[in-house]
Amino acid sequence: MAGASVKVAVRVRPFNARETSQDAKCVVSMQGNTTSIINPKQSKDAPKSFTFDYSYWSHTSAEDPQFASQQQVYRDIGEEMLLHAFEGYNVCIFAYGQTGAGKSYTMMGRQEPGQQGIVPQLCEDLFSRVSENQSAQLSYSVEVSYMEIYCERVRDLLNPKSRGSLRVREHPILGPYVQDLSKLAVTSYADIADLMDCGNKARTVAATNMNETSSRSHAVFTIVFTQRCHDQLTGLDSEKVSKISLVDLAGSERADSSGARGMRLKEGANINKSLTTLGKVISALADMQSKKRKSDFIPYRDSVLTWLLKENLGGNSRTAMIAALSPADLNYEETLSTLRYADRTK
Ligand code: ADP
Repeated sequence: MAGASVKVAVRVRPFNARETSQDAKCVVSMQGNTTSIINPKQSKDAPKSFTFDYSYWSHTSAEDPQFASQQQVYRDIGEEMLLHAFEGYNVCIFAYGQTGAGKSYTMMGRQEPGQQGIVPQLCEDLFSRVSENQSAQLSYSVEVSYMEIYCERVRDLLNPKSRGSLRVREHPILGPYVQDLSKLAVTSYADIADLMDCGNKARTVAATNMNETSSRSHAVFTIVFTQRCHDQLTGLDSEKVSKISLVDLAGSERADSSGARGMRLKEGANINKSLTTLGKVISALADMQSKKRKSDFIPYRDSVLTWLLKENLGGNSRTAMIAALSPADLNYEETLSTLRYADRTK
C-alpha cells in the first residue's frame, strides 16, 4: 500500500467518440481499490491487477458502485490535501497519463454545473473555510502563480507580456524558485477563477504560436497560503505558510522514436526525463517515509519540474497522484504503462 504521505488514485474515463466509432472494447475493470487490465491480443491470459488508494470508474450510470463524480474525487483527494495545507503542510496534487485520458478533466474539469475539477473546487473550499474561520486572532492571505514548463524552460502564464522563459534560481533558505514569476494576491474564489482562465488562455495561445500543443508541457498552479495567528495575551504573532501545487503533467505517451527528429525528439526526451524523475522522486520519498529504506538520494535536480517542487515533495509535505486512463483496447500499451507508473509511485 501507499506510504502515509503519498496517495495514489487511478481514474478511467468513458469511451470517447473516436473509440466508440471504432467499436473499441473495454480492457479495464475495477473492483474496490483494485484496477485490472487485460491484454486484448492475449485475452485468455490472466488480467494484470494493481491496487491503489482509490480506483475511480466513470461509467455512464451514476449507480455503478465504482462511479466517481468530480465531487467524490475532490472529497477523497482535494479536500484531504487542503486540510493538510491548513495544518501547515506543503501539498502537491499531480495528474498523470497519456494525452486525452482525462488529466485536465480531473484537475480543471468543465464549466457546466457539477463538472468542476479538483482545482476550482479546492479554491472555492479554501475561501469558504477562510471566511468561516477568520477572526480577530486569525487572518489569512492567499497568493497564486501559474507557470508552464516546456522543454525544461519556465513560462509565466499570469504575465502575458513576459515572452521568453524565466530563470530558475536557488534561495539559500527558501530553496529553488523562479525569478520574476508573477505572484498575485487574491481575496476571493472569483479572483482565482479569473486568473486561472487567463492562464489557461495564455497556455493555449502560446502553444498555438509555437506550433505545439499544451499536452507537451507541464502546467503548475501554485497557491501560497499564509495563516497568521495573533495571540491577544502575549501580543505575539505567528505565521504558518503552506504551498499548494496543482500540476497537470505533460502527456505521458512516448515520443514516437521512429518519426521524431530535432525539436520533437528533444521534446519527447525532456518529457520522459521529467516524468521518470518525478516517479523516482515520489517513490524514493514514499520508501523513506515508510521506513523501507533509511535514507536515500533524492534526484530532485534531474528535472526542472522536480527541482521547483522540491519543497512540496520532500520533508514537510503531502502528495497525491491521480493517473488518468483510457478504457479502450487501442490504448492498451499506454494504459498499462500508466498503471505501472502509478504502481511504482506508491
Ligand atoms: P488530457 O488532459 O489527459 O489530455 P482531457 O481531460 O482533456 O484529457 O480529457 C479528454 C476528453 O475526455 C475531454 O473531452 C474530457 O471532458 C473527457 N473526459 C475525461 N475524463 C472524463 C471523465 N472522468 N468523465 C467524463 N468525461 C471525461
